[in-house]
Amino acid sequence: MLPGMLAGLFPRDACTIDVAALAARARVRFLEDAVAAVDSGERTIRLVSGANLDFDVLSLDIGARMQDMPDGATNPGIIPVRPLTSALTRIQHAVAEIRAGTRDPELLVIGGGAAGVELAFAFRAALRDVPEANISLLQSASQVLPDVSRAAQQRALDLLEQYGIEVRRGLGRLEPDASGVRTAAGEIFRGQTILWATGAAPFSWLPTSGLVTTADGFLLTGRDLRCRGTDSVFAAGDTAQIDQFPMTPRSGVHAVRQGPVLNQNLRAAMRGRGRLQPYRPQKDFLRLLSTGDGRALAIYRGRTRHGKIWWQLKKQIDTRFLSQHRPPRVDSFTGPDPRMQEEMGDCGGCSAKVAPEILDQAIFKSTGNEPSDPTGREQGRVTITLADRDDAAIFTAAANRRVVVTTDAFPPFADDLALVAEIGAINAASDIYAMGATPRQALVLAGLPAQGTANDLAALQRGAQKAFAELGVEILGGHSVKVETPLIGFTVFGEIGDDPLTKGGAQPGDLLVLSKPLGTGILLAAARGGECPANWWASSIASMRQSNASAAEVFRQTGAHACTDISGFGLLGHALEMLAAGEVRARLDLAKLPALPGARELAAVGWSATGSEALQPYLEEVELEAKGVHAAGGIALLLDPQTSGGLLAAVPPEKAVGLIQADPIEGTDFQIIGEVLPASFQSPRVILDDGARA
Ligand SMILES: Cc1cc2nc3c(=O)[nH]c(=O)nc-3n(C[C@H](O)[C@H](O)[C@H](O)COP(=O)(O)OP(=O)(O)OC[C@H]3O[C@@H](n4cnc5c(N)ncnc54)[C@H](O)[C@@H]3O)c2cc1C
Repeated sequence: MLPGMLAGLFPRDACTIDVAALAARARVRFLEDAVAAVDSGERTIRLVSGANLDFDVLSLDIGARMQDMPDGATNPGIIPVRPLTSALTRIQHAVAEIRAGTRDPELLVIGGGAAGVELAFAFRAALRDVPEANISLLQSASQVLPDVSRAAQQRALDLLEQYGIEVRRGLGRLEPDASGVRTAAGEIFRGQTILWATGAAPFSWLPTSGLVTTADGFLLTGRDLRCRGTDSVFAAGDTAQIDQFPMTPRSGVHAVRQGPVLNQNLRAAMRGRGRLQPYRPQKDFLRLLSTGDGRALAIYRGRTRHGKIWWQLKKQIDTRFLSQHRPPRVDSFTGPDPRMQEEMGDCGGCSAKVAPEILDQAIFKSTGNEPSDPTGREQGRVTITLADRDDAAIFTAAANRRVVVTTDAFPPFADDLALVAEIGAINAASDIYAMGATPRQALVLAGLPAQGTANDLAALQRGAQKAFAELGVEILGGHSVKVETPLIGFTVFGEIGDDPLTKGGAQPGDLLVLSKPLGTGILLAAARGGECPANWWASSIASMRQSNASAAEVFRQTGAHACTDISGFGLLGHALEMLAAGEVRARLDLAKLPALPGARELAAVGWSATGSEALQPYLEEVELEAKGVHAAGGIALLLDPQTSGGLLAAVPPEKAVGLIQADPIEGTDFQIIGEVLPASFQSPRVILDDGARA
């Protein structure tokens, strides 16, 4: 579909599959990483990130790279067609520059196979209003489309000529040159944009895997798509070759048709029983080459046709395939399926926090006191302790240095444990920042399932190291246990000055400032159900990866009267804690609640974190004045448990306004969401409006 996209016949979005969402819907663990090496004997793979994974059964379907691909050093204008996404971005950039007259309009397409021919037509379509654009198709072999009949080759040549594309054949191997490309005989073709579409070549690391390869390095399989010499590794698509069918061309048609056979055989291999099915490639198949103008050249059994109907057919085949594998469009999201939710269990992230009333009981039991009356404080050892339900405890350390300490843990909210640990570490350090302190040391607690523990622990360690190194925190040690449901936790110690930022202290008239948008719980829940598009997921990850260091520093400098970290009890729960500690009330403006991209849309179709249900009782302390469109969506955000959420602070009004008007500070996204009101016995703790009052 890349040529169709380049020709302007498809928008980019229509040609992509959101793999993370697809995997979530299939209940498959997804890691955004690449395989660097496979050891088929040891049954392990090493990922580019450094992680190792063990396998019982492996399916390698990694496609191919370009043949004879030169490095870009000689001529930076060379664009390899694979990987497709980076190729498309570079091609579109080049086309835009040619149209703007800032780039030489000489274009070279290297390779006269189906991909090169289609791309040449697509360039012609993309530059239809740039008459000076010259497009040349350079082919090493004596014919274009080497695996079709003579008559079909001639028809393709006629069409290329008709569309004003110059074709040069029989050039042999082409080498890059500073001004374009050069033949072995020294002939030079000039061009600032050189699209390298030379056909499929195997990845160079495959022969080191211990798997049997063909002479040119592709994985050799039987008809059951199992790699020769193993019973546990399968391969399909462009990366493999079936030994009985060495002439089968590498094409999407075969890759797609191998899918159902591969699926069945992988399941049989994992069950350890059942017959493996053979793949039988068709002798010939209908080839449809887009000519970029809403027509296509059809080639079947030596006969050819060119016209609109063939483009319509190609478009239908391609879009049907994509739509089968894409999550539904946002406007047709169905929201959570109760059966699936039961199977999914509790959401990961902070929404797995114990419900507030259960926590209250636990504190009461462990201290033997009412939560507000801790014994440690009376004895002068402890300033703030667990029973205060604040973000962290404070105790006097040796040499009169005060230390802030906090602990935090949650089940993984995504499959990538390194990412989960990275965000978990940032989330844990956030409690320290919320106190106006600086995190210094940390301990790690990891509860992981028995299988794959070593690799999972390594991933976890890597993620935590990354986050803590950036925050200047040293990991002192930790403890790991085998558990049925994984759990990742951190205890973080920090240094604090004389005036900690605490939850108590908000004063009437203060404005409430939030430092990050809300919605991570909603987005994580939808991602687990396969209804979170990749761009929304990426924004939520970026937000969770953002530490609260800058926000805390700004709040300290602006003389914030109170501050708290927004996590598992949602904005409303943590705001209520802050208001209770300061013995004040607040008015919150639902229309001003900042939301991560997609959070409101997903909440509107019913997505919510499992933990949000337990936060409903907080609404008893709320009076709802908002009646407009913001009411329902705003409440979903208020009760959304945040993983690595922002800070909420009560800031003197003139300082708060100055904060919003000042230049943006990296790592913060301040928004005033309400104001602190004086205490009143008759009125509820929080009034929610939507900014519509006079
Ligand atoms: C411009 C162009 C037009 C084409 N048009 C057609 C057409 O009209 N009809 C047709 O039938 N065929 C067409 N093809 C060929 C078709 O695209 C391929 O044959 C098909 O995509 C092969 O599928 P695959 O699953 O084997 O590999 P791919 O589709 O290439 O998928 C492999 C995936 O593996 C990933 N990967 C690679 N290395 C690693 C790694 N180390 N670790 C993890 N992941 C990895 C890649 O990122 C990629 O997403 C065209 C090809 C091109 C370049």
